[in-house]
Amino acid sequence: MSATLTLNAKKMTHNAVQARIACARHGISSLVIVVKALSGWKKAVELIGQTLPDFLGDSRIENLSAFRHIDLPKMLLRSPSLQECSRCVRVADVSLVSELPIVQSLNLAAQKSHRRHGVILMIDLGDLREGILDPEEAIATAIAISEMDSIDLLGIGTNLTCYGGVLPSQENLTRLVEIKNKIEQETHLWLRVVSGGNSSMFGVWDQFPIPEGISQLRVGESLLLGRETAFGNPIEGFHDDIFQLDVDIIEIKQKPSLPIGEATMNSFGEIPQIEDMGIRRRGILSIGKQDILPEHLIPIDPQIRIIGASSDHLIVDLTDTSYQLGEAISFGVDYPGLLSLTTSKYIKKKIIEE
Ligand SMILES: *Cc1c(COP(=O)(O)O)cnc(C)c1O
Repeated sequence: MSATLTLNAKKMTHNAVQARIACARHGISSLVIVVKALSGWKKAVELIGQTLPDFLGDSRIENLSAFRHIDLPKMLLRSPSLQECSRCVRVADVSLVSELPIVQSLNLAAQKSHRRHGVILMIDLGDLREGILDPEEAIATAIAISEMDSIDLLGIGTNLTCYGGVLPSQENLTRLVEIKNKIEQETHLWLRVVSGGNSSMFGVWDQFPIPEGISQLRVGESLLLGRETAFGNPIEGFHDDIFQLDVDIIEIKQKPSLPIGEATMNSFGEIPQIEDMGIRRRGILSIGKQDILPEHLIPIDPQIRIIGASSDHLIVDLTDTSYQLGEAISFGVDYPGLLSLTTSKYIKKKIIEE
């Protein structure tokens, strides 16, 4: 394969340990390490699992199934569909849920296979992705769940800064804890989990005290890329270069920057906007939009500029460099880029443990 994604294991486990310490410093005792951006990369998840998070979290049942041999509790982050409930109770210990019929179906599936299944009821605090928006409805749903034989209502959770870009705040997190308190009063259950959010918390928790009662975070991006997701800033003490992509050069030629002849749409149906910079030394690399959209690649050498891409070719400007045919060019990636690279079967995945 002509493109390799390399993961530095030491840097990754360093970040996982730092995430644990940062949570503890903010009174948060439970850490879910979210590995969905690794797309079922077993060896990488085994390594991160050695830092002993409370849960491994993934949004796909297929991935959790690939991690079945790893001896850690597993959390399904995206609600199973009604059709997936029996598979869900086999591979996940806990799932995040927001629909009563799905919890009923999980209950039946758990009964059938003589298991118990934990659920965390998701509350929508305004970001408008998953969860119950109306507190009264949330309480009624929690009461109904608490009466199911094979389901353990572990607590409630929320997800912010995902769809709507709403930041965690003292106000919305306090509302979450209040809903938990009401559910405890109504059900006479102790809810041990208030799963208060994701990597965006790393960007805000030094600005206000995290309300007492928030007990868990589910953390992916901040740990894998070393940046918080509230404002996109690097996190102090975390590595931001765990991943590196190296791609082979398959052509280097002097060419004008403007296409020659009558121009219409490119291979993706777009009218290209191309700047005339005269004759340039252009390189073609063997990766394309099928693997990653070019805007998610960050050349490590600042002299390199990405010009464009089609499905299998990435065009770069090498005028100010001395790269030769046969060499590789290195890139860092952002989160959407990491997701698509790990998903692509055309990218070689390698782990270094130095
Ligand atoms: C992806 C996901 C997370 C992790 O989000 P990051 O921003 O990567 O930390 C947490 N919770 C849920 C429900 C998710 O889907």
